[in-house]
Amino acid sequence: MATEKMEFQAEVGKVLDIVVNALYSNTDVFLRELISNASDACDKLRYAAIMNPDIAKGDGEFKINLIPDKENHTLTITDNGIGMNKEDLIKDLGSIGKSGSAEFLNNLTGDKQKDATIIGQFGVGFYSAFMVAEKVEVRSRKAGEEQGWLWSSTGHGIFTVDEDPKSTRGTEIKLFLKKDYYNFSEPGDVRTIVRQFSDHISFPVVMNFNGETETVNQAAALWTRNKSEITEKEYNDFYRHISHAFDDPWDVLHYSAEGTIEYTALMYIPTKTPYDIFQPNRNAQIRLYVNRVFITDQTPDLLPNYMRFIQGLIDTKELPLNVSREMLQKTPVLAKIKSGVVRRILNELKKRSEKADEYLKFWDAFGAVLKEGLFEDSVNRDEIAELCRFHSTNGDELISLTEYISRMKPDQKSIYYITGDDLSVLKNNPQLEGYLARGLEVLLLSDPIDEFWPQSLTQFKEKTIKSIQAGAFDLKDFPIVENNDKEEKADDKAMEALIAFAKEAVGNEVKEVRTTDRLTKSPCALSAGDGEVSIHLERMMRQHNQPVLYQSTRYFDLNPRHPLIKLLAETVASGDKSDENKEMIEVLFDQAKIIEGEPISDPAGFSNRVTNFMLSSIKK
Ligand code: ADP
Ligand code: MG
Repeated sequence: MATEKMEFQAEVGKVLDIVVNALYSNTDVFLRELISNASDACDKLRYAAIMNPDIAKGDGEFKINLIPDKENHTLTITDNGIGMNKEDLIKDLGSIGKSGSAEFLNNLTGDKQKDATIIGQFGVGFYSAFMVAEKVEVRSRKAGEEQGWLWSSTGHGIFTVDEDPKSTRGTEIKLFLKKDYYNFSEPGDVRTIVRQFSDHISFPVVMNFNGETETVNQAAALWTRNKSEITEKEYNDFYRHISHAFDDPWDVLHYSAEGTIEYTALMYIPTKTPYDIFQPNRNAQIRLYVNRVFITDQTPDLLPNYMRFIQGLIDTKELPLNVSREMLQKTPVLAKIKSGVVRRILNELKKRSEKADEYLKFWDAFGAVLKEGLFEDSVNRDEIAELCRFHSTNGDELISLTEYISRMKPDQKSIYYITGDDLSVLKNNPQLEGYLARGLEVLLLSDPIDEFWPQSLTQFKEKTIKSIQAGAFDLKDFPIVENNDKEEKADDKAMEALIAFAKEAVGNEVKEVRTTDRLTKSPCALSAGDGEVSIHLERMMRQHNQPVLYQSTRYFDLNPRHPLIKLLAETVASGDKSDENKEMIEVLFDQAKIIEGEPISDPAGFSNRVTNFMLSSIKK
């Protein structure tokens, strides 16, 4: 058969471009990725052989060999795992299969060193071989098949595939090292890297050099060992192995559950937020083992979505080894394990939350994700609420709901909050004025998710949780504490006249014009009706092309204590309903919209009116 020449898929070409040109940092990655693939291949065959023992026949001891060759400047990595046939080679090593890979390309920083380090996370680990090799040959024979195949490439646009006389099952990857990486054709650095990154691979990794063999790794499943005998470094290395990440975990949770359901869990909370945490199909990265045999890492049901930042594994004997996908969907075992693990994680977070500084690191990275649990997990809602931290008008520090409650006014029955896109803008929202003047604390919520959870967590420790942007609040019970805000109100009659006048001017855009206690410094504000979708949420829904189910009803609130409103009320009440006064109302209304982040309907008109006012004030 003639050698077939093929082109890499365009995305692979881009990845290779980065890899081949990557600078010198972190080249160690290649070995970790290739060993990880070899280990995956052994896992896959071991699992397949449970149902079809024939395919692993004759060679049942899974093993990974590393063969440095000093004379020829090569390093060969072999495994006796599942192997690849011609189609597999073309598909697996010529295109990018995983859905996340397009993201990889979008996430590239342009900094080649940085980009090279994240390669493994995107399901493109194999290509890291080209960091150190000018040519890569892959010989492979698939389990259960007779014919072997040779894949070969220099990483520049094309690869070739040919028949190969390989007589054993599995894969052999030969790296023809670039001059700068001849060190990998000797055992020293290779051994160091394996010890560092791949010690816990559960198959023996054996070095063959100059006729001598040496097992380099421990080859014991880490999680089956006694907790007290595992060092922090071993835990961290294993974390990096399963996550392909480079950070240290923020927390490690390792325990064996006994009783109604038995399993071992090893769970990691990362330090850094993964790039894809808010992508729609992102799940928690949990591997499922049955009695140490790897079954799958595609079980979305092992942890709830709001814990999708967790990396880890579950090993249980409660399932049969030959458990099928359908069975995994049906069995109650996973649901039981899930609820157990969730509780343990929440308890652990609670414990860790006692040290505020440390906890805030976690909260910064994953708080916005955990908050999703407030509406996703009705069983653990209160525990999750305890774990949440918020910005508030009390200061720069993040606070818990419990702290908020401890500072509440004696007659205060609600926890108040306000939502918006941006914390610094929120802090200046006029809607806060009346609360601040009365010494009432308000939570400042600026994560998109903050629009949703208050619909589920409507109260906490018997205090209702209320948006100050929806509904008319009676703040009369709370006296104003700031003295400069004790300005006299406009006359009620005058206000009535002004409200009627304002309705004529902007009435078609709002449900009602009314007076409010909530403002002290600003003349006016826009708000939504009680219990309705806030203006901010409505805008978010529109931005995401979501149908806005209930157009919220707008209220135009006027501050009867503001000098401008007072003057305007008096003028209107005295019968002056001039166009100029009407335009003033229109400008005020547009300003209220701008402050809420809303587009104004006639920006040119707004600008003209403001210019005219400026002009007339100069003339005077
Ligand atoms: P990932 O391991 O995340 O899928 P890689 O780029 O590392 O991405 O590998 C791509 C694919 O190539 C693997 O999913 C696997 O199907 C195949 N592959 C790579 N190395 C081997 C191997 N040693 N044995 C069998 N298949 C392999
Ligand atoms: Mg891989």
